[in-house]
Amino acid sequence: MTTIAFIGLGNMGNPMAANLIKAGHAVQGFDLVPENLKQAAANGVTVMASATAAVKDAEVVVTMLPAGKHVLSVYAQVCEKAAPGTLFIDSSTIDVSSARQAHQVAESYGLHSLDAPVSGGVGGAAAGTLTFMCGGTDEAFAKARPVLEKMGGKIVHCGDAGNGQAAKICNNMILGISMIGVGEAFALGEKLGLSHQALFDVASTSSGQCWSITSYCPVPGPVPASPANNGYKPGFAAALMLKDLKLAQEAASSVGAATPLGAEAAQLYGLFNAMGNEGVDFSGIINFLRGQTS
Ligand code: NAD
Repeated sequence: MTTIAFIGLGNMGNPMAANLIKAGHAVQGFDLVPENLKQAAANGVTVMASATAAVKDAEVVVTMLPAGKHVLSVYAQVCEKAAPGTLFIDSSTIDVSSARQAHQVAESYGLHSLDAPVSGGVGGAAAGTLTFMCGGTDEAFAKARPVLEKMGGKIVHCGDAGNGQAAKICNNMILGISMIGVGEAFALGEKLGLSHQALFDVASTSSGQCWSITSYCPVPGPVPASPANNGYKPGFAAALMLKDLKLAQEAASSVGAATPLGAEAAQLYGLFNAMGNEGVDFSGIINFLRGQTS
């Protein structure tokens, strides 16, 4: 049994912490929202009065917070309170530069540190099947693996500090661009008199094949489990897609990488969100592309 501090018990953090409890670990949790702490307590988390209290005697500290500024602020409070050698795992999706800063802060106190953002959403968090993309030293990764395995199905070491975040935003930039491409193709097919099923049958097994078609088809019918069959309820909300596309753009400009389609995808998801679709699944962008708002 390992004593684990879990800071940030929201939509993702709470089910992730619950899986650590189920695996027999002791979890000391903290969040700013009392409702989330109530849920955590119901799952077996020992609720602590502050982030600092949560890290006391913890061998591992997991953070699952909204953005880089929250992670850096929590690290500034708690790193000095943790025993040297404690492993810090940040699973939030944040900008690469804040992630690298967080590593530096942790390492300056003699702590091990890993950025380990996830894909798989709230469903994957509950089922314990998240994919973790990790950045940090071999030693930090080796220490983290047994803990991450209790929350995830696939755990990939992507390289040094910040590379987990880099992999996450590159992957999600592909996803945002491909979903727009697939939405455009289905909207064009409709105008050309092509049925959704016919286009799916061809494209899902031809050179247009991609996850946005085969697993997450943005029209009702061909893939029964896709959000298109459920009124575009998320799934993966458009607000989170926009967040990740903006992080990709920020990273691209910081290193001078040309990402013209990534930039266009960020623009289109920006417009889609601004029309009140923040809580709509990101595949709902097909309705915006057809000229309807959602
Ligand atoms: P959320 O808003 O539900 O949870 C974040 C939690 O952090 C909130 O409960 C908030 O109160 C807490 N928090 C903020 N500042 C804090 C502080 N100083 N101390 C303690 N707690 C604090 O968000 P979420 O959906 O759980 O997402 C968390 C992270 O995971 C984000 O970075 C998000 O981009 C990423 N992510 C989310 C999904 C998803 O489908 N929801 C999927 C992949 C990645």
